[in-house]
Amino acid sequence: MVPLIILVKSGGEESLPGWREDFRAVDPRLDVRWWDDPTVAAEDVHYVLVWDPEHGRLKNYPNLRVIFSSAAGVDNIVGDPEWPAHLPLVRMGGTETARRMAEFVSWCCLSLLRGARRMALGQEQAHWDHFQTSSTAPERRVGIMGMGNLGAATARMLGAIGFPVSGWSRSRKEVPGVRSFAGAEEMDAFLQETDILVCLLPSTPETVGIINRDLLNRMPRGAQVVNVGRGSHLVMDDLLAALDDGQIDSAVLDVFEREPLPDNHPLWRHPKITVTPHLASLASRRERVRYVAEAIASHEGGGTLPNLFDAKRGY
Ligand code: NDP
Repeated sequence: MVPLIILVKSGGEESLPGWREDFRAVDPRLDVRWWDDPTVAAEDVHYVLVWDPEHGRLKNYPNLRVIFSSAAGVDNIVGDPEWPAHLPLVRMGGTETARRMAEFVSWCCLSLLRGARRMALGQEQAHWDHFQTSSTAPERRVGIMGMGNLGAATARMLGAIGFPVSGWSRSRKEVPGVRSFAGAEEMDAFLQETDILVCLLPSTPETVGIINRDLLNRMPRGAQVVNVGRGSHLVMDDLLAALDDGQIDSAVLDVFEREPLPDNHPLWRHPKITVTPHLASLASRRERVRYVAEAIASHEGGGTLPNLFDAKRGY
């Protein structure tokens, strides 16, 4: 049995024994090493599983076969101007990632619906703030920007809860019970009927800064925002201004331009914003190992790879 070396850089180095154990259970051929292991010669590396490799590193492995991103977004990898773009780059996918995202966004939408931020502030101040919010789920329309693996699963779960759901993407989608809008020309119609906007787009040159003042103004007054895509999608000053003047009522933000969000950042204490530390959806290590090991087995057997990054589309 010829070992296949896979370098891992996902989480801290202390997670290596766990990666090893999980990979060994599914494919004993895989020799799992940490990213900075000095005993591994560059030419012996066949696969890498990474989240945020230092720029300039990936080009150094002459026999690399596939790059696996340990997350669905690959912006940290393709942001390296020297990344070996001739190689297949597999984005994390699978049902567990999608379910976790759907659950998280459902929690966000229900939190916004019921005023969870106000409840948390009341608890912090030991203040019995007995209030009622005006709508129930069927009266609050959710619009999801980005109807891929995560967006479609999220739309289905929100629909099952009772929210009217629509989706906006580059191409039209068929998700039962979900109104589909596509392309720039249908964005206005999508925004006009969106009370809670959920961003599940990838970060690409076309989507950077997409949630700006102009977009926020096109939604009904008092709309709410959930950003679980990337920090680069949101123009923060525009959101803050829209919160100040009441165009936007409140928001849940999971992703930020700079992560971790600095300790003294005003967002931490904003009364209308719930901050979460980029934890919306990360599949368990075991699930990610299963996904990667299956893809490697397929690739070694001459088969196809799932969820490939497409440089032309940018995601
Ligand atoms: P997919 O590639 O499966 O889906 C992307 C969707 O965005 C597609 O529907 C695509 O349209 C649409 N899209 C892309 N560009 C545009 C555009 N310019 N205009 C309109 N629609 C566009 O990705 P995933 O669902 O797997 O992941 C989505 C993103 O979620 C990731 O890239 C990442 O940024 C974020 N994420 C966040 C996590 C967190 O913990 N906060 C965890 C995991 C992911 P079409 O279908 O027509 O191609």
